[in-house]
Amino acid sequence: MRNFIRLFTFIALLIVAIPCLKAQSMIDNIWNDINRTVGISYLQPRLEVMHGEPNGPALFRKGVVYYDSIFVNHLVENHDSEFVKLSVAYLLSHELAHSNLRHNDTHLKSMAYAKTSSKSAVISGETRRDDLLFKESEADLYGGLYSAQAGYYALDAAEGFLRAVYDYYQLPKELPGYPSLNDRIEVAENLKSIVWNINESYQIAVALAYLGEHNASQSILKSIIRESDFKTPEILHMLSYSIFLSAVAETDDYIISNWQWPVKISLDAYKTGKDRGLKTELLIDRLNEALIIELDALSIEDNDESNLRSSIEIVIAYLNNDMENIQASQLKDDSLLAIYWHLLGKKRRALKLFPTSELISHNYTLLTGNLLPKQTEFLDQNVSSELLFELGFASSKNVLINGKRIAKKRSFQNYDLYELKSPNGVTLTLIKELNEKKPIINVKTPLTINNSVLFHYNSNSIKYYLQ
Ligand SMILES: [Zn+2]
Repeated sequence: MRNFIRLFTFIALLIVAIPCLKAQSMIDNIWNDINRTVGISYLQPRLEVMHGEPNGPALFRKGVVYYDSIFVNHLVENHDSEFVKLSVAYLLSHELAHSNLRHNDTHLKSMAYAKTSSKSAVISGETRRDDLLFKESEADLYGGLYSAQAGYYALDAAEGFLRAVYDYYQLPKELPGYPSLNDRIEVAENLKSIVWNINESYQIAVALAYLGEHNASQSILKSIIRESDFKTPEILHMLSYSIFLSAVAETDDYIISNWQWPVKISLDAYKTGKDRGLKTELLIDRLNEALIIELDALSIEDNDESNLRSSIEIVIAYLNNDMENIQASQLKDDSLLAIYWHLLGKKRRALKLFPTSELISHNYTLLTGNLLPKQTEFLDQNVSSELLFELGFASSKNVLINGKRIAKKRSFQNYDLYELKSPNGVTLTLIKELNEKKPIINVKTPLTINNSVLFHYNSNSIKYYLQ
């Protein structure tokens, strides 16, 4: 009998524990997916379960995001799994955005204040309400983009999720001086299409960068920053790289243009030959532009060093005959030392730091730390004429940023076709192909093979090529 009770208790505990464990692994997966898209440059906060009596579903404090696991289980028990997934993505990406944006007051804290209400007179109503609402929209925008890039259109669940939060914690739906529930829902609803458009534009820009269409890529990235005010280190690094690379590839200065720069994007893509002949003065201008953008990215990260920053500074010093101001002892990695000696004309010394075998995989390894995989996937990149025909007749949807058209998009089956104009007026046709199967190889760095580029997301691989 005692054994029976033990067994019964064990089974009962198991039945209670299994859904919790399932929820736990879902939360961890979503958290990792979102953080991966945010990039390695931010210090990833820790994720921990909230203790005590939570006033809200999550909060962040000193590099830790806390969430109420009982509330998440409540969602699991009362809603379908798709809604729960998007809600968790919304909750975690929203807190991550507050943390990355260094907001020091979140809606969750203010909702807690709302419950005790004694602190509600600290700042005068409208100002505080507007300030809180601004921070909430900013966190919704950044969080929405983080999760969209991780494959979750989290804002689609925002209204249902916010209502669930207000009900569960019995928060007042309106309180003077605080954004109301309706304000919050309105913000999230308005951001849905903005997030969709920025995410599409960003992905097009990244694909174009890898395909060597740097002018078009830079122009889209600049539109995103200028028109939407969405500025993350990833976008800024990407833009700075792109400007730097196209500048060093376009100069006729053989010593500069023929060096294999330690960069994420293959330089070959930039050496299309069509834009050579960049004058030194213009080259310095472009390098300064790249440097300013890179410094901007580093300041958001609370960082002051990067391989790219040093690369740009060394070339600027070289062009200004200022190499004596660069201290070899301060160059921390061999790739930078190699550039340094190379520009000083000490070829043998440079090459010693840079074995020929490394030159090939160099683009991929130096910055990302990833080795180029040995086996490569077979990429056949001919979209059949029937498919192109179907795509041509599919209804089109504009990808817009602040009313400005970035591209026209047509979709058919697993294919998307983007028509866009590069800044010099040439029409580009970019094809995106989605494969919903596990990639053969799993690498963080996109693969560029035969004029196409392959990205791996979660369990999908996405291939882009120019038609
Ligand atoms: Zn918030």
